[in-house]
Amino acid sequence: MQTILTGVRANEEPTIGNFLGAYLPMINLSHEHANDSQINMFVPDLHSFTTPIDHSKFYAQIIKGIKYYMAAGLDVDNPNVHIYRQSRVPAHCELAWILDCFTPFGEASRMTQFKEKSEEHKESVTVGLFNYPVLMAADILLYDAKYVPLGEDQFQHLELARNIAIRMNNKFDQELFTLPASEAEQVKFMHLEKGLRIRSLTDPTKKMSKSSTNEKSKISLSDDPKVAAKKIMSATTDSEGVIRFDMVNQPGIGNLMAIEALFTHRDLQDVISDYAGQTRYGDLKTKVADTVSHFLSDFQEKVANISDGDVERVLEQGEAYANEVADKKLHTVQKALGLRK
Ligand code: ATP
Ligand code: MG
Repeated sequence: MQTILTGVRANEEPTIGNFLGAYLPMINLSHEHANDSQINMFVPDLHSFTTPIDHSKFYAQIIKGIKYYMAAGLDVDNPNVHIYRQSRVPAHCELAWILDCFTPFGEASRMTQFKEKSEEHKESVTVGLFNYPVLMAADILLYDAKYVPLGEDQFQHLELARNIAIRMNNKFDQELFTLPASEAEQVKFMHLEKGLRIRSLTDPTKKMSKSSTNEKSKISLSDDPKVAAKKIMSATTDSEGVIRFDMVNQPGIGNLMAIEALFTHRDLQDVISDYAGQTRYGDLKTKVADTVSHFLSDFQEKVANISDGDVERVLEQGEAYANEVADKKLHTVQKALGLRK
């Protein structure tokens, strides 16, 4: 059985960018493939402090993140659906060390996200921040995951995981790791034209990021729906004076249309047609504000109905499964390297 796998770091409240770019594609794929695939939605909790976080809130954030997966529609009663915490499966770190030793420093140094994040957090650039794409490769390769639904910003890291797998398969055994699908194949598998990139509401040339300290740039899944609506109403647009889908000259407007289409499960082209020739940006903003605030009220109600006990039960099953699969793969790798007979 093939494996489909993804995770969202628990460093901050996830945003609608995470929801649309990672949760939703994964949930859709889980509905489509839970009978022919293992569906692994894990919490990369060890990735969460590559940049500074508030550790006093961390544990609660992890548990809330799991409730979000469940509220988003993951069918946890299906025996092929698994939720687990990375930190409870020690093989992730053990394999990451091994992969480190087969990752050229130059290749890891090309990761643009490291360059961007180390600019942002100049005072705290850690080895962990540099190394996290290799841990991410371990997260994927341990489970032989072929499909990894991700937002557009993570495809470079997926390519690194592919390169590591190719290198180690050539050296040790072509069957050692399943090669994750290429970016083009991943996007096709998600029924998309390209990877998703929801933009910041205050600077639509950049992506929306949960770790941004500018609250107005992002809509978190726990935002009060009224506050979220206000953020949409004051989103940065442009002075072109006509509503067009043009991500180069009007990225703010294009972003709002993309958000509307994704939340209402409509074709982007239909949303674009609705506004063809219109000039009042306020009309589009009011519609999107309404869509997003309704989504948030509904989602937050679902989260409130999931108890900590529900989460514990799901983790117990998921972590038993994850340890079994991951240990088996780790043993195979240890054998190939000569660590074990
Ligand atoms: P951080 O600022 O902490 O890096 P993030 O918002 O980038 O947070 P991640 O935990 O790094 O979130 O990424 C989790 C998943 O969400 C990944 O699949 C990533 O590609 C996706 N994602 C993140 N931001 C966006 C976005 N703006 N649009 C679409 N997908 C996104
Ligand atoms: Mg990120």
